[in-house]
Amino acid sequence: MTQEDRTLAVEHLKEALTYRTISSIEEDSVDFREYDAFLAFLKRTYPMVHEKMELTMINTYSPVYHLKGIEKVHLPVLLLGHYDVVPVEENTMMDWERDPFGGEVHAHHIYGRGAMDDKNQVISIMESLEALLHEGYEPGRDIYVAIGFDEEIGGERGARAIAEHFREKGLRFDLVLDEGGAVVLNTVEGVKTPLALIGVAEKGSSMIRITAYGDGGHSSMPQKGSSIEVLSQAVRNLMKNPMRPRLTAPVRGMLHGMAPFLGVKGILLRHADLTFPVLAKILSSSGVMNSMVRTTMAMTMAKAGSAMNVMPQEASVYVNVRILPGDTFQDVLSHMKKVNRDLDLSYEVLVKEEASSISPHDSEAFKTIERNALKVHPDAKVLPYLMAGGSDSRKYECVSENILRFSCVRMTKEDLDSIHSTNERIHVDNLFSMIRFYVELLREYET
Ligand SMILES: [Zn+2]
Repeated sequence: MTQEDRTLAVEHLKEALTYRTISSIEEDSVDFREYDAFLAFLKRTYPMVHEKMELTMINTYSPVYHLKGIEKVHLPVLLLGHYDVVPVEENTMMDWERDPFGGEVHAHHIYGRGAMDDKNQVISIMESLEALLHEGYEPGRDIYVAIGFDEEIGGERGARAIAEHFREKGLRFDLVLDEGGAVVLNTVEGVKTPLALIGVAEKGSSMIRITAYGDGGHSSMPQKGSSIEVLSQAVRNLMKNPMRPRLTAPVRGMLHGMAPFLGVKGILLRHADLTFPVLAKILSSSGVMNSMVRTTMAMTMAKAGSAMNVMPQEASVYVNVRILPGDTFQDVLSHMKKVNRDLDLSYEVLVKEEASSISPHDSEAFKTIERNALKVHPDAKVLPYLMAGGSDSRKYECVSENILRFSCVRMTKEDLDSIHSTNERIHVDNLFSMIRFYVELLREYET
């Protein structure tokens, strides 16, 4: 990239961050004028993309760009991003070092909601295509870009509808690439090498409300077995009896890949299948690693009682279940009922989401991402991984076997913590890395 290209790319991301494209499940509170303005900004800023690529709008706000390839031998490639963002909580405003919607640069960082999730991705894809098209880029195969506008609230009207649109047209993709993994630094103890984590699967995130019942009455003469007491037993049973740990293909691949960096401990990882009974115990002691090997249950809200001196007739707890690929929602429900079989409880399903399918990590598609990630970050070790969070990409399972989740950014623990949080920002070098990655990747498809 020339210095001028870099300056422009920074300006473009800065402007992108000034549009308040904030998702909300309460439709009335969404300001769609901001979405219109953002889309107009894309059109104005990337004239080559809009001239050379066919644009289809899905549900008014999701642009799908299509660049025709000169042959039809290979399946097309689909690049994903989303431009909606999570809100900035009012009481955290004071903690932001820069205006979250100001598009400000400070100490080589571009600040703003969406700087890491996910306007950086949208802008990088656009910058790379704009530059390549200027040079007369002609891919062998078809290239598609699809941009979601409601990823943060589930992606039903964006990603789901786009995937359906592709499916109806009978399209299939060799590769679908979305946000998710990144090049992480100092996240695993003892590993100094940057790890380029490519997400090949996602856990499912479901919500179940468990309710216990008891007699009401005055708290001066309490009976045994109050609703809160029963609920406490249920919570304790769940905590003491987690679901069984299991090794999935991406986690096995990740552990194998990490083994050489961990000395003696690495032997356990290298033979993870054999050592799993022991290994699982060690992994379970870390929140992150535990989430990789089992379906987890987290109590996020509890509700009981309305007066200080009245026994509540009902007490309930909300459980966020993150389902490991291979387990099903029904397995989780059965497990909950089994460990609490002696208690009188009711279970209410609030959100039901199964785990995603697992994309292979020995595919050509995976190797392509690996190769190009290494061009930009030659010091990194590429590993498959299982995402605990969700992305739009799982909606595309109906149109591809190779769904990969990776942003070519280097992330410190601090950067990771800033996503969806205070002082979300991206280092300008990270923006340039992302653009370079997409340029390199797209060049692979050139004839
Ligand atoms: Zn995102």
